[in-house]
Parts: sequence; structure tokens; C-alpha cells
Amino acid sequence: MNKEFIEALDLNILKNVSKENLMEHVKYLCSLQRISGTEEEYKAVDYIVSKLKEYDLDAKVYEFDALISRPLNAKIDVIHPELKTLNAITHPFSLSTPKEGIISELVYLKHGKIEDYNSMDVEGKIVLTDGNASPEKAWIAQQMGATGLVNISNEKIPHEMIITTIWGTPSIKTCHRIPKIYVASVGKSEGEYLKEILMKEKVLLKLYTKTDTKWCRLRMPIATVEGTIEKEKFVLIGGHLDSWYYGATDNATGNACCLEIARILSQEKVRLRRSVKIAWWVGHSQGRYAGSTYYVDIEWEDLNKNCIAYINVDSPGSKDTTVYLLESMPETMDFAEYLARKLTGLNVERLKPGRWGDQSFWGLGVPSIDCYSMAPEDKRANVGGSGGGWWWHTPYDTIEYVDPEFLVRDTQVNLAIVLALANSTVLPLKFSRSAELYLNIIAELKKYDRKGILNLNALENKGIKLKTLLEKIEKIYDQMNSEKVNILNSMFLQLSRILNPTLFTFKGRYEQDYAVDEPYIPGLSKIIELEKLDENNALFLITTLIRERNRVSDTLDDAIKLVEETLDKM
Ligand SMILES: [Zn+2]
Repeated sequence: MNKEFIEALDLNILKNVSKENLMEHVKYLCSLQRISGTEEEYKAVDYIVSKLKEYDLDAKVYEFDALISRPLNAKIDVIHPELKTLNAITHPFSLSTPKEGIISELVYLKHGKIEDYNSMDVEGKIVLTDGNASPEKAWIAQQMGATGLVNISNEKIPHEMIITTIWGTPSIKTCHRIPKIYVASVGKSEGEYLKEILMKEKVLLKLYTKTDTKWCRLRMPIATVEGTIEKEKFVLIGGHLDSWYYGATDNATGNACCLEIARILSQEKVRLRRSVKIAWWVGHSQGRYAGSTYYVDIEWEDLNKNCIAYINVDSPGSKDTTVYLLESMPETMDFAEYLARKLTGLNVERLKPGRWGDQSFWGLGVPSIDCYSMAPEDKRANVGGSGGGWWWHTPYDTIEYVDPEFLVRDTQVNLAIVLALANSTVLPLKFSRSAELYLNIIAELKKYDRKGILNLNALENKGIKLKTLLEKIEKIYDQMNSEKVNILNSMFLQLSRILNPTLFTFKGRYEQDYAVDEPYIPGLSKIIELEKLDENNALFLITTLIRERNRVSDTLDDAIKLVEETLDKM
């Protein structure tokens, strides 16, 4: 990272972040249960649009159809070895049982991972697993032939979770993955009870689930604050507007943060070199990121040519959040960590970006940043937001769990990241970090290529060459005249489109991967599974691996060519 450029940024503007404004937005948004495609979500959209107008900004409101699923109710009756009724919830995209429920035997399978099934026959049975419901668990249970899945929360009450693996609105290529299984979750004590009776004898359950899955018309506001020098280029920042229940810390605080950033950029006469687009995604919680995915599809060309980076804002300003985490693509890590540490005085832990939230821009290759606060590890519940609070995705996520001071802090960090990307003359991106990551992953995967089928040494050499070239270019940042700066920034944008899709996606640029976590270079990393497979499946995988190897090879060649051409122009 080029520190001089960061130091030159005018961060005085951060003092203008207003606690009163932030809390006014949170208060209003928390008066609505913002379930996707409902009147209360539309009201939240109207509120965002009216505030933007107040700030002299027009919002473009995108309207589109999305497949939305709302959980209605669920119940579990134990009918053998005793009679007992348990409270339960169901999840978006679970099938609805017939009115009279479905009866089946219950089997306990630890965390519901593939290896937990061993050779257990679960055909037609209901699988009981520890931990929150997840798309991966539901898909595995369905593939194994189970009829139902019951999840045990780590907390007193279960968390609302969506269980489809399809990212965004289903397409003709993915609709076969719409879940065909009944899924419910129970609190910890109900789960412990089920495990206990299972240890003694066979357990029969009657499971009831009811969901409402249908196409809904969604409205999604996105505002643009125009830049002055490179107006067509833009930084994208956004967070989901829909929520579970009143969703104070997930994500009314994030919506307030985005509104306050919009106000400051528009009203406080901030000079912007590049434009900033601010999004309030819908269809996140009940449509598996339908809004951000729609935006990628419909604005593909503009995003592809002009989007500098995406900043995801989910669950800032929760109580007790004294730890900072950074899920970020490698090229953005250094400057984002530097800013977050400088502004908060906290240590910032670097993490691999997770396949959650509205990270719908990986196929495009847009550099992505998610810098967020959490409670310390020993105080964190097993949850995916709300700063690690047990109230996440429950009716208890209300305004008392918002810390106004931390919300100011987190808004300042996000605004600083926006300003660094929008105003730095040379973009604060360091792609030698990406080359380094390619190198490390390839070196690790070599251990699994015992027969040398993939010639990973050749890929490693390409990685070394790319890293060396990028380090050379990073050394000459300071001697740039304006014409050369443009050439360099354009190289950054193109590099991200070349390197990130291969580093982060399996399906490539135009499709979205399923909503399950994948390792870096997911295509090639499948080599790790090779030894566990029978001969037939191993040969299928080898075919894929050879193609994925070619993909990585072309990716590195294209990147090397681009950097060499850029160096020639310097
Ligand atoms: Zn969230």
C-alpha cells in the first residue's frame, strides 16, 4: 500500500458523522419488520428514497421479480417413545408438509457433514444435526435421501436461516437445486431432549413445516454521488435492507451507515475524484441475495468497466463489539487494515472472504472489502452477524442492542475506505498480494499432485514472474505523472477482472457459485479430494482438474502480459 496517498487523504470529514442522524434512521427502520416483498419493506424503501431526496440525491429504484420464500410456522410432535410437542421454526425454501405433517424416524448425524453420514441409511428419515440450519446441510441431507432435517441451535432459541444453495434468483441452470426437503430448527434444550431420547430407543417424529414461496416484485434503491475527474468510475458500497423481524443490528444499523455516508458525500461538499454508488439490497434474507445478484446481471457492463471496488456493510454498531475483522480480497487488505487500525486503535484480524452476505461480485472480479466489528471470541454466539450477539436473526434483535458510539466508529471506518478508493490518485490496491496468494495456494496443492499430472511447477513459475513484475510496478508509484496514473489505474481494474474470478469462483464470470464456502482457487483446490474418491469418480475429477489447471495458467499468462505491457508504458 502506498502510505503517502493515504496520509494525503482528507479524513477530517469523518468528524461529520452524526450519531443523531444514524440513530434516527435506526429508530425508524426498526419500527418495521422488513421481510422481502412485503409492505413494510416497501415502506423502508420509501424512507431511504425520501432521505436521499432530502440530501439532494436521486435514487434509481430498480424493480424486478425475485423468488422469495417466507417461513410461516413449524412444529414437531414426538410420537414415540412418548408424546411431546416441541416449538420449532422452519426456513425459507423448506418444503411445506401436508397439513397433517409427515411421520418418520429420527436419526442423529452430528453436524450433518458428508463424513458424518458414513454408511448410515437415512432414506426417507428425518436427520437431526447440531448447529444452525445451512444450505450445505440441507443439500447434503436431500442428496442422501432424507425426507426432513431438524437443526439444533447453540442458543436457547433457533436463528432464522435460509436453506437454498442457489445464489440469487434461480436460473434454468440452477433451478434443479431448489430444495425438496422439509427443514426445521429447535432451540438448544429441545435439541438436547431429542438427542437424549434417541440414545435409548427408536424415535418417531411428526414434523410440520409451512413456508410461502412465490415470485414477488421487489424495489431496490441505489444512489449515485458523482465524482469530478473520473466520473464514470465508481466505488460501490451497500448493505441489505430487508431483515428478520425488526433487524436492528442486522441490518438497520448498516442501512443507517449507508444513508449517513450518502448525506456526507452529498451535503458536506466532499470533493470526489470518482463517483460513489450506494445500495440498499433487497431479497437478501428471504431470497438468498436476489437483489445484489440482479444488480450484477442487469448492470453487468457498467460494473465490469467501471466499478473500482465493492464494500459490504452488514451489522455495524452492535453492542460489545471491541474486535475488528477484515474479510477482504488480497489486493485491498493492506490499505483497509491500515485505515481501520488507524481509526479504531484496534487490532484488525485478516480473514479469507466468506461466501456469505451480498458478495455477488466475485465472478465479475470486483475487489471486495468487508471490514466489520465483532464481540471478542469468548463472548460470541455461533451466529453470522449482529456483531456475534445471540439475538441475531431472532425477534430479539431490537434497538437496545445497538451501541450508538460503535455505530459512529464503524460508519467512519466505512466512509474512510470509500474516500480512499474514490479519491486516491493511484488506487490503493496491491496486486502483488494476489500474486503471492496464487503462489502459496499452488505450492500447497503441489503436495496433492503426487503423479505430477497437473505440472504445477510451471504454474508456480508463472506466479513468481507475476509477483516480481507487480512488485516492480508498485515501487514506481511515486514518480507518476497524471497520464501514467491513468494507465496504472486502468491496469488495476483489468487485473482484478483477470485474477479474482479464478481465485474466488468455480463457475467463472457469468454464473454465481452455490452458497457454500469454497477454498481459494476452488477449481484447482478440488485436487485435495482426489485421494478420497473411488477410481471412477477420481477420473471424473482429473478431467475437471486438467481444465481448471488450464484456467489458472491462462489467468496468470493474461495477468503477466497486462503487467508487462503496462511496464513498457511507464
Ligand atoms: Zn445481515
